[in-house]
Amino acid sequence: MNPYWIYGIIIAVFISIQLFSGGFGDSTGTETTPNEFFTYLRQGDVKKVEIVNNREANVYLTDEAEEQTIHKKSKPNSILPSVSPAPNYKFEFGDLTLFQEEIAKIKAEQNIDVPVSFKTEHNVWGDFLLTLLPFVLIIGVWIFIMRRMSSGGGGGAGGQIFNIGKSKAKLFDEKSDTKTSFKDVAGLEGAKEEVQEIVDFLKFPEKYTSLGGKIPKGALLVGPPGTGKTLLAKAVAGEAKVPFFSLSGSDFVEMFVGVGASRVRDLFKQAKEKSPSIIFIDEIDAIGRARGKNNFSGSNDERENTLNQLLTEMDGFGTNTNVIVLAATNRADVLDSALMRAGRFDRQIYVDLPDVRERKEIFEVHLRPLKKEETLDIDFLAKQTPGFSGADIANVCNEAALIAARKGKKAVNKQDFLDAVDRIVGGLEKKNKIITPDEKRAVAFHEAGHATVSWMLEHAAPLVKVTIVPRGRSLGAAWYLPEERLIVRPEQMLDEMCAALGGRAAEKVIFDEISTGALSDLEKVTKQARAMVTVYGLSEKVGNLTYYDSSGQSEYGFTKPYSEQTAELIDKEISDIIEKQYQRAIELLKNNKDKLTELAEVLLEKEVIFKDNLEKIFGKRAFEKSESMSEIIKEEEE
Ligand code: ATP
Repeated sequence: MNPYWIYGIIIAVFISIQLFSGGFGDSTGTETTPNEFFTYLRQGDVKKVEIVNNREANVYLTDEAEEQTIHKKSKPNSILPSVSPAPNYKFEFGDLTLFQEEIAKIKAEQNIDVPVSFKTEHNVWGDFLLTLLPFVLIIGVWIFIMRRMSSGGGGGAGGQIFNIGKSKAKLFDEKSDTKTSFKDVAGLEGAKEEVQEIVDFLKFPEKYTSLGGKIPKGALLVGPPGTGKTLLAKAVAGEAKVPFFSLSGSDFVEMFVGVGASRVRDLFKQAKEKSPSIIFIDEIDAIGRARGKNNFSGSNDERENTLNQLLTEMDGFGTNTNVIVLAATNRADVLDSALMRAGRFDRQIYVDLPDVRERKEIFEVHLRPLKKEETLDIDFLAKQTPGFSGADIANVCNEAALIAARKGKKAVNKQDFLDAVDRIVGGLEKKNKIITPDEKRAVAFHEAGHATVSWMLEHAAPLVKVTIVPRGRSLGAAWYLPEERLIVRPEQMLDEMCAALGGRAAEKVIFDEISTGALSDLEKVTKQARAMVTVYGLSEKVGNLTYYDSSGQSEYGFTKPYSEQTAELIDKEISDIIEKQYQRAIELLKNNKDKLTELAEVLLEKEVIFKDNLEKIFGKRAFEKSESMSEIIKEEEE
C-alpha cells in the first residue's frame, strides 16, 4: 500500500475545512465595503440588514433600489428564492459595536427605519470535519510511527506499515557484501570443520542421504565473547553459495504482541522458498531463554510465543527441508532445553578461547594488513597474550598500529605491541596521577612482594614484569604469564594464592602495617578459596562434594543448599586456607627481606622492571619452563 494516499487524505481534510468553514449555507450577495454600505443606507436604498455570526453583514435592498443601475449587478441570484431570499450585498464589518453605532447614527440623521436582525449560521460540514480533525491527526501520527518502526534497520521490511510482522533477516548478497572466507578465520580447527561440513550437506545432500543419514537441522555455536562465532558464520555466508539469511535474536522482538512469532514464520517461509538455504541467528539467547515455569506477570509471553514458533519451525509438523539454522550465543546455559535437543540444534559447536598456537595464527591474520618490522617475533606475541580472545588480539594489533603512528614510526615494532597489551589489560597509563612519596614506596614494596613470592614458589605463574606506573584504577601491577592448564592441582592454586597475598605480606614485613591497597588481591584469593571448598571439593574437612549447579537453575532458589553447620565449616575452611597462605608469604619474605628491599629500591628508581632485573637479584629461577614456541608445542603434544 502506498503511504502517500494517507498524507493525501489529511491534506484534503484540511482543504475542505478551509473551504467549508467559509460557510456552505452562505448567501450569494456581492462583496462590498462598509463605507459603500453606509452610502447606500444614507440614500435610503437599504431594506434590512442581517448580522451573521457577529462578523458579517448581509444587506437587502428595497425593490426600487434594486432597479437602479448601480445595484443591477447585485441582483440576488438565489438558489431557492422562495424559501430564503438572498441578500444583495455582504461584507465583514470588523467591530460590531462601532458598526451598530454608525448605523444608528445614520438612521437618526436620515430619519429612516431600517431593521437590523441577528442570525447565527451553522456550518454543518465544517463542524463535522473539525470534529474529525483530531482523529485524522492521531491516525496520521500513529501511521507515521508504525512506518518508522517497520522500516528501522529492517532489510525486508522496506518502510511499509503492514510489514511489521515480516522478518528482518538480511539476505547475504555475494556481489555487494564484503566476503569473508574460511581463510580469515584462524585456529578453531574443529569448529571450522563442522561448519564446513554443514555447507557440504547443503551442496551435496545425496552424499549423506544415500547412506540413510539425515541432514542436521541446526548447529549452535557456543563460546565466550569475541572468539569468532559471528566470524565463522560470515565465512559460511561467503563460501556456502546458497542463500544466507542473517539476523539477531533481538530482531524478533517488538512492542506488539504476536509480531515475534509472525516474523519467525515469515523468516522460515522465505528460507524455504529459496531452499537449500541457511539461516543465521546471532545472540539467540535474546529469544531462546528457558521458558519460565511460574510466570505470573505474563510479561514474557511474547518472547515465549516467539520461541514456541521457532521450536515448531525447526522441528514440527511442517518440517523444513534443506534449511539449516546456525545460531550463536555465549549463554548456552540459559537456553531452553527444548531448543537444544537433537532434532533442532543437532550439533553444538564449542568455540573456545584460543590456545598459544591458535593465537599465533590469529595474530598472523590480523598482522597481514599492518606495516610491521621484519624481525617481529609472532611466537613471542602469542605467548604474551594468554586468555586473549580473537577479538582482543585484533584489538591489540590495531592498538599497536595506532601507538606506532602516534610515535611517528614507519613500522610497528615489538614494543608497540607490548604497550598495546598493557593498555588493553591495565587501562590507560596515568603518569600525572598525584601520589605521595610514602604511597609510592608502599606500592613499590607491595609489588616487589608479589614478585618475590611468585619467584620463590614452584607453581606460581612466571613473572613478566613489575610496574609502579599507575594504570586504569590500579597504582601498580605485577604481570604474570600464566600457564594454560586444563587441570589445576591444589598445590598450584595454593601457590598462586600465596603469591597474590605477597603484596600485603610485604607491607606487613617492611612497615609492620597493612593498607587498603590489597583489595583486588583479597577479592581474587577469597573467590579462589571459596571455589576450592564449595566448587571443586578440594577441602578435606568439607569433603568431596560440590555445591555448583551447572544447569544454572538451582532447585534451592535463594536458600543455601547446605546446613548452618556446614556453612560455618565452609567459612572456617576458607579463612584457614587464606590465613595459611598469608603466613607462608610472610615467612618467605622475612627470610628474603634484603632481596625484597633491593628489588623495591630498583623498582622505585626504574618504575618498570622485567624478568632480567629479578634474575640479577635472585639468580635464575629454579622451576623455569621452556621458553621457545617449538618447545612449548612439543611439550603440549607430549
Ligand atoms: P560475541 O559472542 O560477543 O558476539 P563472537 O564470538 O561472535 O563474539 P566475533 O564477532 O566473531 O566474536 O569476533 C570479533 C572479531 O574478533 C572478529 O571480527 C575478528 O576480527 C576477531 N576474531 C575473533 N576470532 C577470530 C579468529 N579465530 N580468527 C581471526 N579473527 C578473529
